[in-house]
Amino acid sequence: MSCKQKSTETIEIRGVYGNPKPLWDKGFNLNKLGVNAIFVHSGSINHDMVNRARSEEVMVYAEFATLNGINYVETHPEAWAINEKGEKVKAASWFMGVCTTEPGFRQYRFGQLRDLLLEYDLDGVWMDYVHWHAQFEEPEPILPETCFCDNCLDGFSKESRIEIPEGITSEKSLWILNHHDESWRNWRCKVIYDWTYEIKSIIKEIRPNALLGLYHCPWDDQEFNSARRRILGLDYNLLKETIDVFSPMVYHGRMGREPDWVKENIQWFSNRLNIKKDSYPKLWPIVQAYNNPGVISNEEFEIVLKGGLAGESSGVMMFTTSAVADDKGKTEVMKKVYTNLMEKSRN
Ligand SMILES: [Zn+2]
Repeated sequence: MSCKQKSTETIEIRGVYGNPKPLWDKGFNLNKLGVNAIFVHSGSINHDMVNRARSEEVMVYAEFATLNGINYVETHPEAWAINEKGEKVKAASWFMGVCTTEPGFRQYRFGQLRDLLLEYDLDGVWMDYVHWHAQFEEPEPILPETCFCDNCLDGFSKESRIEIPEGITSEKSLWILNHHDESWRNWRCKVIYDWTYEIKSIIKEIRPNALLGLYHCPWDDQEFNSARRRILGLDYNLLKETIDVFSPMVYHGRMGREPDWVKENIQWFSNRLNIKKDSYPKLWPIVQAYNNPGVISNEEFEIVLKGGLAGESSGVMMFTTSAVADDKGKTEVMKKVYTNLMEKSRN
C-alpha cells in the first residue's frame, strides 16, 4: 500500500498486467525482476497466486471488467444496450457493452465484486471497460449513440427533469439529441461516475485500505470530436472525486501512434488533472508490450515504458505479462528499467 511507501520514493509501482505464471514458469522471482505489483483479471486470481506474490513482496491488484456484457446480454436480453434507432446494438469489434442502468445487471456486478473482495485481501481493484458501448482501442474507433432503452430514457427524464414527448424510441432519441444534447451527455457521464461511486463504496466497506483504479481511454478533450466525454461518458472532473489511481491505456501500437506519444499523453494528463505524485488521485499508466498489431520492438517497449513514467506518473505497468515473458529482450528491458527505479527508491 502507498502508505507504507517511503515519502522520498517517487515511483511506487513497477507493475505487470496479466497472470504472472509465464514469468514464474521461466524461473523468475518477480522481485528479482524489479516487479512489485501484479494486476490480474479477477477471474484468474487464486490463493496460490496471491500467496506466492506476497512471498515475493509483490502487491496484488484485481482487474475488474465492469461494463463488458459479453456472456451476459445473451442470457439477459433486458440488459442489451439500445441505439438511437431503437435497436439492440451490435458488438463493437470485440466489445459488447451492456445497458449501464439495468438494475439486474448492476446487482450482478456488485455481487461479483463483493465475492471477490471477501475472498482475497487485495491491494486494490482496477475497474476496466468503464464506458458506454463503444470501441476506442482501434485506430478507427467505433462510437455509437446509446443507450435509449426504457430504463435509460426514464432515468434521464427524471434526473434531468426533462419530459420526453410520446413516441417510438427512434423519435425520442432524435428529440433528445436535437433539443437536449448537453443534458443528455451530462447525464450519461453522471451514470458512469455513479458506477465508480458504488464500486468505491463496496471496496471501502469490505477492504477499506484497498485502492480504486481505473483503466481508461487516453484521448484528450478534443480527439474524435470530444468522444471521450461525449460518447464514452468519461468526465475527469467527476471521476477524480472517486478514482484513487488513473491508468490511461496508452497502447500506442493498437491506436496507431508513435512511441513518443505515450510521454506526451502522460504529461498532458498530469496537467489536465493536476496530478501530484504524492497525493490522490495518482497516475499509473498501462503501456503496450504486446505484439498486435505488428511487432513492438525492444527499443519501442523501452520508450513507452519510460514514457509511462513521464509527468507526475508514480507507477507503470505493461500489457501483458506474457508478452514480456515470451521475449527475452523485453524481459531484459523491463528488468533494467525496474531494477534501476528500485535502486533509486532505496537511495
Ligand atoms: Zn439503457
